[in-house]
Amino acid sequence: MGELSGLANRFDCFIFDLDGVVYRGSRPLPHAIETLKLLHAHGREVYFLTNNSGHTRQQYAEKLCRMGFTAEPEQFITSAWVTGLYLQEHLPNARVFVVGEPGLKQELEGFGFELAEEPDQCLPDAVVVGIDRQFSYQRLAQAQSAILRGARFIATNTDATYPAEDRLMPGAGAIVSAIATATGKSPVVLGKPNPAILTTFLSHHPVLMERTLLVGDRLDTDIALANLLHIPSALVLTGVAQKTDLENAPIEHLPNWVLNDLSGLLTDGVDSLLIHALPNRV
Ligand SMILES: [Mg+2]
Repeated sequence: MGELSGLANRFDCFIFDLDGVVYRGSRPLPHAIETLKLLHAHGREVYFLTNNSGHTRQQYAEKLCRMGFTAEPEQFITSAWVTGLYLQEHLPNARVFVVGEPGLKQELEGFGFELAEEPDQCLPDAVVVGIDRQFSYQRLAQAQSAILRGARFIATNTDATYPAEDRLMPGAGAIVSAIATATGKSPVVLGKPNPAILTTFLSHHPVLMERTLLVGDRLDTDIALANLLHIPSALVLTGVAQKTDLENAPIEHLPNWVLNDLSGLLTDGVDSLLIHALPNRV
């Protein structure tokens, strides 16, 4: 393991959230790409973990390549991909009505699932809901009808917001809530903080959990998941959570470290402030 300074030298494996951590929209965040490159150059394993179901793993790899960091699709753990794994296990051969974007549909088609385009005519086995920036009253009514007639209600994630370039935008959770309200049903939620999004992945990768750092910008998803799995975590202040959010956060949402941006991984001192450590952690 090559020598690095700061937190980066204490871990072999880094799992980064994407929105608000590596980039906002199409804009890389300050020092993000340089930090990823440095970690890779020093032999660290780098993975990405996103609740955003809008793109396939291949598309995420291409996006980071365009920003200057070369990554393989296998380095991305997405809520869309985990939804495919879940359906494969629990509803094999399902016909699926997707309230979501092309990336989610492509990911599920890649698992071999048939997509139901006209759910009113032929009842699908499941309604899968993710971020859908073309969401409409008609889609809401179709999802409602299918779920009330017995289709399983599955949410890729329930993030209330996600950080775009200059503002927060409504996340998949806002759409999931609309469907939950219209049906009176609660979905199975597969994204963070459900540990399933990471335990499936970790079971295939011989990574020492105590030498892995999870880096995210949301307390209620990224950091909550890390704490559930007893993985050390760092909150980066370039996305949703602000420093003041830490004051009222429950202990299970508190990270070990807070960084102003990803360069804080490489520096000792004020930029990597240790705020909280449980006895069984670093
Ligand atoms: Mg994020």
